This record gives sequence, C-alpha cells and structure tokens, in this order.
Amino acid sequence: GVDVHGVHKRFGQHRVLDGVDLRVRPGEVTVLLGPSGSGKSTLLRVINHLEKPDAGYVEVDGEPIGVRRRGGRMKELTERATLVQRRRIGFVFQNFHLFPHLTALDNVAAAPVATGLSPRVEARERARELLGRVGLAGKADAYPGQLSGGQQQRVAIARALALRPGVILFDEPTSALDPELVGEVLGVIKDLATGGTTLLVVTHEIGFAREAADRVVFLDGGRVLEQGPPSEVLDRPRHRRTRDFLSRVL
Ligand code: ATP
Ligand code: MG
Repeated sequence: GVDVHGVHKRFGQHRVLDGVDLRVRPGEVTVLLGPSGSGKSTLLRVINHLEKPDAGYVEVDGEPIGVRRRGGRMKELTERATLVQRRRIGFVFQNFHLFPHLTALDNVAAAPVATGLSPRVEARERARELLGRVGLAGKADAYPGQLSGGQQQRVAIARALALRPGVILFDEPTSALDPELVGEVLGVIKDLATGGTTLLVVTHEIGFAREAADRVVFLDGGRVLEQGPPSEVLDRPRHRRTRDFLSRVL
C-alpha cells in the first residue's frame, strides 16, 4: 500500500501540495480526481520521489521513500538508494515514454535485466508472459512506432509490471489516446485491479472510477477535499467544488 503523510510541496511562492494525507490500501484501487493544476501529477511525482516533498513523507509497503528513520528523525537517503526504491513503484505516463529503438519485448525486459532483478533469458520469458497479459502476445517484435497509441500504452503497463512493483501509479493513462482506443487500455487496468494489484490512477474517466475504484479522492488546491467510495464521492459529493468538477467532466 501507499501512505502519504502530511506532504507539502511548493514551487517558488506557489503552494502546490498543502498537507496531503492519503492512503491506498494493499490490493486497492484509488482514483485521484481534481481540476487542472490541483496538484495530481505533483503528488504522483512526490510519491515516487521524482519530486522531493518540502515536508511530510511517503511510505510504500511500509518503507519510507527517499528517507529513512534514524532515532526519532528522518534522514535523507542517497540518490542511488532512492533510485532502487523508485524501481519498486511502477509509473505509467500520459505519453507512454517507451524506448523507440527497442521492441515491445525489450521495452518490457530492459529494466529487470539492467537492474539485475532477472537474468536476460528469464526477463524475456516473463516479458512475453506480460505482453500476453495485456493482449499483445503477437506484437513482441514490433517497435513502438509500429504500434497504435493504445498498444503502446499497454506495453508501458507491461513494462511497469515487469519490476513487480508494490504499487502502480497512472497519470492520465488514456488522455492522449483516440477515443476508440481508451477502452482497451482501461480494460487492462481493470484486469490488474481485479487481480489485486495496488493502483493509484489519475483519470477523468468517471465510468472507470465507478466500476474499478475502491476509493475516490478529490484533490483541490493541493488539498484532499473529500474522499470515499465512488458511490459517495461521485453520486453524493459533499462539496460544491466536487459537484462543479463532476458536472464539467461527466
Ligand atoms: P493537470 O490536470 O492539468 O495535469 P495537475 O493536477 O496534474 O493538473 P500539477 O501538474 O501537479 O497539476 O501542477 C500543479 C501546479 O504546480 C500547477 O500550477 C503547475 O503549474 C505547478 N507546477 C508543477 N510542476 C512545476 C514545476 N516543476 N515548477 C513550477 N511549477 C510547477
Ligand atoms: Mg497532471
């Protein structure tokens, strides 16, 4: 699971995260909603320590990210140690971020080999399995440029799975896709959800949130304004700002 404890982050004078507490329980799916600029991407980037919080900290599966406890205090980890931790947190981006010069198979197998998690033969075997899981068994040898956006995003999901992450963070995984390709990617994410992978998903796909989320969190101005099961937050939002937001995206 993921535990975000009192995270603050500012860029210059701009307070982007203003005391965020958030918990994604192991095996649960949390959908993070909020207006543009509310801090959703920044929060994901703080969770995997691509951004360092100004205050507060994040734990993944009980382990603080980028810091360690020493006595009663938190001490910063080395960059290298943080990098090792970051690999345990899957990240799927809006724009796929695949390596263009590697085949689908090698995109998936690259990190487990480079990090010494698995020998090459084993990593490629597992990559094949993962490509099958996202419905791309037949595309192992294709390069990203030969794949549709939906297929590329499914390769990116297989790649995130390859490192056996404790959680996968998704930042608007379908917003760069043509409408007819959105469903195939959401379908794969739903399968992961059903399979018990811990997921934190930023998306404006309310239908997905309704079907797949255990919890919905609404972020506004860098704060969690409300959270709860989809039936509460989506159908009976307590705050006007949540209602306004939902009426705009639905
Ligand atoms: P969107 O829905 O548009 O993706 P978001 O909720 O993901 O929005 P963030 O990308 O987290 O919002 O950005 C929150 C605020 O922080 C924005 O005002 C943005 O301009 C600012 N911001 C984000 N990253 C940086 C940065 N590296 N330097 C300065 N300001 C930043
Ligand atoms: Mg964003």
